[in-house]
Amino acid sequence: MKPGTRIETKLIHAGEPEPRIEGAVAMPVFQSTLYETAHVPDYHDIPYIRLNTTPNHAVLHAKLAALENAEAGLVTASGMAAISTSLLSMLKPGDHLLVQDCLYGGTFDFITRDLSELGIQYTFIDANDSGSWAGLLSDRTRAIYVETMTNPLLQVGDLAAVARFAREHGLVSMIDSTFASPINFRPAEHGFDLVLHSCTKYLNGHSDIVAGAVIGRRDLVGKVKHKLDLLGGCLDPHACVLLHRGLKTLALRVRYQNESALKIARWLETSKGVKRVNYAGLESHPHHTRARELFSGFGGVLSFQLEGGAEAAARFIENTTLPFRTVSVGGVETLITRPALSSHAEMDEADRLRLGITDDLIRLSVGVEATEDLIEDFERALQS
Ligand code: PLP
Repeated sequence: MKPGTRIETKLIHAGEPEPRIEGAVAMPVFQSTLYETAHVPDYHDIPYIRLNTTPNHAVLHAKLAALENAEAGLVTASGMAAISTSLLSMLKPGDHLLVQDCLYGGTFDFITRDLSELGIQYTFIDANDSGSWAGLLSDRTRAIYVETMTNPLLQVGDLAAVARFAREHGLVSMIDSTFASPINFRPAEHGFDLVLHSCTKYLNGHSDIVAGAVIGRRDLVGKVKHKLDLLGGCLDPHACVLLHRGLKTLALRVRYQNESALKIARWLETSKGVKRVNYAGLESHPHHTRARELFSGFGGVLSFQLEGGAEAAARFIENTTLPFRTVSVGGVETLITRPALSSHAEMDEADRLRLGITDDLIRLSVGVEATEDLIEDFERALQS
């Protein structure tokens, strides 16, 4: 069967073995480290779990590439394995990276501490101010790295300009698109070279595995695979099958979460006691117009502040009953946290406050529960 061209059909059919193995409609788990094979000329193609070359890996690689409309895909042991291995594959000591100033905490640490220790330099950029980037280039600048939506303020940089700028200056453009998922935004269609995901979040969607992906230009994904093969950041076949299963409902989940998050953001914006809501789907968001042009949905994550500061935020969270009080995003369960105490707790306080991640900021990752039940829960928590 040939996959259709629409993303919902690709989620089900793209990359699947034809004919299906023993007729199995769901992909079986190939829980075998080794495979008897004829001579394989290239070491990196030998079927072996660490080399990400089992049938479970092959299906995911083809499906993920099809979803992003890109040339090639690769799964990794975690989102951080995808990010760190990609950066290590594109940069060597003495090289220089332009990087967005507001990043996922793990990426921030890896770039500012670990890459620095290896002699790889970086300069932060304001992803909204494309005019300022050329002045920050050096003759050793090799790549530019951004995120589709920043966490937890959901800012949307000038992403089209990032891909254009990279092309003009011979840089590799890299984007962590975890918060958007390919349902809402496909960076390769806008000229990005490498798209990175924490599949732990929306792509799997069920909070039961850790996984990552690198998707994009075939030559660059090949380079990342060689490094990954040696660093050992492969995805276990059992986790592959769970990710594969999660992917099939990606469109259903993410579209519902888009709608639900927008309704909750609109409700919060008009609620007494709420000071500010950050969600790119709101007309009040500074990047709403850009987000509407680029994205087909605004995602399931939003953040907000209440009147009454950190104490009110703590009380609100304590008084909710449906959300789980924990980090991470993108699962079917609604999750609530204060980034200053969780995802961004490691960050220098002055840096955190400069970026607007205040102590009273609450982040919500909207799951697939009934929107009305969530709003009722939040209304009760606001009143108490
Ligand atoms: N990128 C983003 C935007 C994230 O939010 C996270 C985790 O929260 C990661 C990457 C790291 O993913 P993982 O936990 O799968 O390594």
